[in-house]
Amino acid sequence: MQGIKKAVRTLVLIALAGVIAFTVYNLFFFKPKVVGLEQLEKLPKRKDITLTVTPRNYVDLITVTAYQGPREVILFRGGLPERTNQITFRVEPKEIGLRDGPARIVVEVRRFYVLRESFEVQAIVDTEPPRVRIIYAPYVVRQGGSGAVRVKASEEVDLYVEVGEVRFRSYRVSEDNVHIAFFGVPPDTPVREVIKVVAVDRAGNRTVIPLGTGIRRNRFRRVTIDLTRREKLIRTKIYSLLGGNLEEMDFVTAFRKVNEELRRRDEERIREIGRRSKPERLWKGSFIQMPGSKVLSYYGEKRTYIYKGKVVSRSRHLGYDLASVRNSRVPAANSGIVVFAGDLGIYGNTVIIDHGFGVMSLYAHLADFKVREGERVKKGQIIGITDMTGLAFGDHLHFSILIDGYEVTPLEWWDPKWVRMRIEPVFSD
Ligand SMILES: [Zn+2]
Repeated sequence: MQGIKKAVRTLVLIALAGVIAFTVYNLFFFKPKVVGLEQLEKLPKRKDITLTVTPRNYVDLITVTAYQGPREVILFRGGLPERTNQITFRVEPKEIGLRDGPARIVVEVRRFYVLRESFEVQAIVDTEPPRVRIIYAPYVVRQGGSGAVRVKASEEVDLYVEVGEVRFRSYRVSEDNVHIAFFGVPPDTPVREVIKVVAVDRAGNRTVIPLGTGIRRNRFRRVTIDLTRREKLIRTKIYSLLGGNLEEMDFVTAFRKVNEELRRRDEERIREIGRRSKPERLWKGSFIQMPGSKVLSYYGEKRTYIYKGKVVSRSRHLGYDLASVRNSRVPAANSGIVVFAGDLGIYGNTVIIDHGFGVMSLYAHLADFKVREGERVKKGQIIGITDMTGLAFGDHLHFSILIDGYEVTPLEWWDPKWVRMRIEPVFSD
């Protein structure tokens, strides 16, 4: 009996020593880290800050204090909430007596009531939102059309034009924060939509002002396309676009997959390419239309696809279809740099030329390329030959202008007067 008692006591002692050793080890060798401190570097008018403390073991108090001159303000004081190692607090510098300018912020993590670790951040308090003055903006833009603005900001900002859900970036063109931006109006934008200029300064203060540009209604044609007549050709096209393995997929399902899913995927890809524009003007004068071409299909057209008398799919056509003789030579609509020359799904063999400041031109369904990515091209230079690659049912060129990767009508860009009146002003003070 004595022996057992002794053994138990020894075991308890060993366990206790283990726990103490483990605790000491944790306390001294696993010092807590604070993740997210960089959020404190820039303090705008109002900011929600989330800090993560790892590991959370034994942490019983977190104190965040701001020091500025003789001032000392507590931004947060408390423990970690249960089951999380994050704290969130709001900072409103003006409300707590901090002035614009530098401040020092100290985050202190206390463990076991006595052990303290502190982390220091040099912060800039900036509660002044940027001021924005519009130097040039068009009076009105059409649904599906384009506009250009010249804007001056009071400090360094990220500035963009917002049309509904879509943001068009701007480019800073001078030391004193003059920006220019091109924007498009997606064809289904309501005419009551307010186009806005949004400027966000380095601290995160945001200024939003209405651009004051109205949106004019544009009438888009409705076209019905009967797939029944051309089923054989379309079948070949869609099955090759889907990559073949479709024995069990019926014609309508396959067509919808191509016309809807692949279309979305390819438009997404064009947007991604559209973001690679150079911050300089690479073009001059109006854009040119493929010579001797006839318009087969207009921008904005609402297409309804019918198969054996039933509506099976819909889409919006976002370019001009231009046809001439078979395998016509396609000229660059304006000078620029080729940003894409390759296969682009339903667009087939496609060339995209960057003209700078977010403006690009797109040439789809080509047979072959006469240019390579990265190559500089001059206005009128032959870049390819028309064909019917991708989801095209006849030889033609699908042409459109992109702004930040969004297709807009090229009609305006083909018009020298429009370019002179609506675009040129943004390039002069
Ligand atoms: Zn087209």
